[in-house]
Amino acid sequence: MDKKVALIAEKIKATKKLVVFTGAGISTESGIPDYRSQGGIWDRFRPVYFDEFMSSRESRIRYWEQRMDMEKNLRRAKPNEGHMSIAALNDLGHLHALITQNIDGLHGASGIPGEKIIELHGNTRRVRCMSCKRLISWKEAEDRIESGDRAPECSCGGYFKPDTVSFGQAMPVEETKKAARLSSESDVFMVIGSTLLVQPASLMPEYARASGGFLAIINLSETPFDRKCDVLIRGKAGDVLKQILDRVRSG
Ligand code: NAD
Repeated sequence: MDKKVALIAEKIKATKKLVVFTGAGISTESGIPDYRSQGGIWDRFRPVYFDEFMSSRESRIRYWEQRMDMEKNLRRAKPNEGHMSIAALNDLGHLHALITQNIDGLHGASGIPGEKIIELHGNTRRVRCMSCKRLISWKEAEDRIESGDRAPECSCGGYFKPDTVSFGQAMPVEETKKAARLSSESDVFMVIGSTLLVQPASLMPEYARASGGFLAIINLSETPFDRKCDVLIRGKAGDVLKQILDRVRSG
């Protein structure tokens, strides 16, 4: 593993165009379960699809119950060594962009400036009206639920929903385009904690490769890119990223 860490660090040191792509795996060490691993969210819940959310109050109630269950972990979650190591690589001037599938807001909390973060699937700390698009804070939505409003609605009559992309819901066009462009611009593209199964997110490493970018993957389980990447590390994100950062810093 040492040689692989050294090679990634060497590539990062030589560029200001590092693009990091993260999935649920970077946040498991902050106590937020991923979806597909054993014991992950899908072992416990059937997801509510967007059309179900929009067409039935019962589904909206089920959705909010799942979201409130997730809040037990989210409330306590703090950026871990993995998030902080990426923020440090930004401070050192190497990070071009951070693209994430995560909705937990932990990259923002790690200190990476908002303009460098692309949240492909939105952010669950904001809540949006599905009709007039008005945003309210998570706190406001949570207060309403805790006072007995099981599926809060906007004053316009629309349904409030965390500002994330649900199954069956369209991807945000601008963010997706921007992520594709930034991936193509990268010299070094590093995937961390993602199965790379969900499109269009899974296309980003493809864009990076197509324009000659160096592709590194740090993940605990298999991905469809394992044989196509330049370096593959089967390790825990926090530990591996800290080692990479130490190497970059050691000059
Ligand atoms: P996923 O659940 O499909 O895969 C996570 C991957 O991370 C797995 O391959 C797993 O082996 C690996 N992993 C787990 N812990 C790890 C660690 N400590 N170090 C390295 N690798 C680790 O997640 P996904 O591919 O990101 O896609 C699922 C979707 O679920 C995403 O679209 C995302 O929006 C959503 N999601 C987000 C969160 C979050 O915001 N924290 C949590 C769960 C799901």
